Amino acid sequence: MADTPLMPIPGHIDPVPVPRDVTPRADGRVDLLGLPRPRIAELFAAAGLDTKAAKLRAKQVFHWLYHRGVTEFEAMTDIAKTMRPWLAERFVIGRPEIVLAQHSSDGTRKWLLRTADGHDFEMVFIPDADRGTLCVSSQVGCTLNCRFCHTGTMRLVRNLTPGEIVGQVMLARDALGEWPKAGGTMAGLDFDDEDEAGGEGHYTSDGRLLTNIVMMGMGEPLYNFDNVRDALKIVMDGDGLALSKRRITLSTSGVVPQMARCGEEIGVNLAVSLHAVSKEVRDEIVPINRKYGLEELLQACADYPGASNARRITFEYVMLKDKNDSDEDARELVRLIKHYKLPAKVNLIPFNPWPGAIYECSTPERIRRFSEIVFEAGISAPVRTPRGRDIDAACGQLKTAAQKMSRAELDRLADEKQAALG
Ligand code: SAH
Ligand code: SF4
Repeated sequence: MADTPLMPIPGHIDPVPVPRDVTPRADGRVDLLGLPRPRIAELFAAAGLDTKAAKLRAKQVFHWLYHRGVTEFEAMTDIAKTMRPWLAERFVIGRPEIVLAQHSSDGTRKWLLRTADGHDFEMVFIPDADRGTLCVSSQVGCTLNCRFCHTGTMRLVRNLTPGEIVGQVMLARDALGEWPKAGGTMAGLDFDDEDEAGGEGHYTSDGRLLTNIVMMGMGEPLYNFDNVRDALKIVMDGDGLALSKRRITLSTSGVVPQMARCGEEIGVNLAVSLHAVSKEVRDEIVPINRKYGLEELLQACADYPGASNARRITFEYVMLKDKNDSDEDARELVRLIKHYKLPAKVNLIPFNPWPGAIYECSTPERIRRFSEIVFEAGISAPVRTPRGRDIDAACGQLKTAAQKMSRAELDRLADEKQAALG
């Protein structure tokens, strides 16, 4: 395993960017997943097609990859029969490997995935009444060390490639049975067990369960900006997965210098992990605050391209007992939002404990009171319902839990995974 150089976490507040890794395959073939159309055309041309044919084939293959979800060139029926083996000799259409797949009693699904070079990361699908949200990872581990976050305790980090990021969305669509069949119907519509399909309904006009994406899995997406941007461009491409930028949210702990680029070059909704309203507390629990302070962060939010009353910035606020949850904290949060004239909504997240964590979750009464104070000031402040607690759905927990499992337990879960995937 691990033939890619990993980097140890360099420190609390001054992480060095991790260089982009393209993992060469042992068989010399190139994985097309995650490559933009022009790059696919370039590769086809380099393999011998003339420019015009390469461009046309790239367009066809892109459509098969992202609109139809095929993983074999043989299934690409509008490509000449003789051409398909030629493609298969030179290229593959990859997916991250599934190590574990778990299904919570509340419908939440969680996967532990593995890169080709043997690094594990997580993905979660959360069905709700009116939507289905996929929580996507951007890195293996995280270079930042937020004190309440389990991912922050992982010692090694590597950026996920665009293919590994898009690959999560592809895998979720595979598992939910959400690729159109030849006739245009969705493979997932004939589920006899609604729960297997991840929820009670079909959420969009095209009958899909996966309607939203949040970059809130492992890692800090703005420290892997180029790969996250390239992956999300593919996810938004109208000829493929075609998810609207309004249905995608990127969450950052506050990498101020990249925030404007996120709005300009990706254009998705922004969520900011605020979690505290004073320098003292935020320095402690979100240490990147020592580098980019609250004023700078909130000014970058005020300047975020595309934010408006119709497209508000979400401020995530994890409720930590006696740390950031007082009435004064709530009032200061309101003051800051008003002072910077932010089109904001606040998302209150009950702290999800993990073994070794030094914090506790605030009491339900405290969370309710905090929410009321913000709400009474005219700012929406829902409390996020904890989901998937029975399957270690807190960020980073599944990976650690899996590392502690015996071989027999892992084998049993792998069997369950096969059964769940049908
Ligand atoms: N690195 C990015 C995105 C991933 S974390 C960021 O920090 O925004 C996604 C969200 O989950 C963040 O708001 C993070 O603070 C929160 N989170 C992490 N660990 C948590 C825990 N144990 N309980 C509740 N929320 C947690
Ligand atoms: Fe990294 Fe986000 Fe966890 Fe902080 S909360 S350690 S930025 S994943």
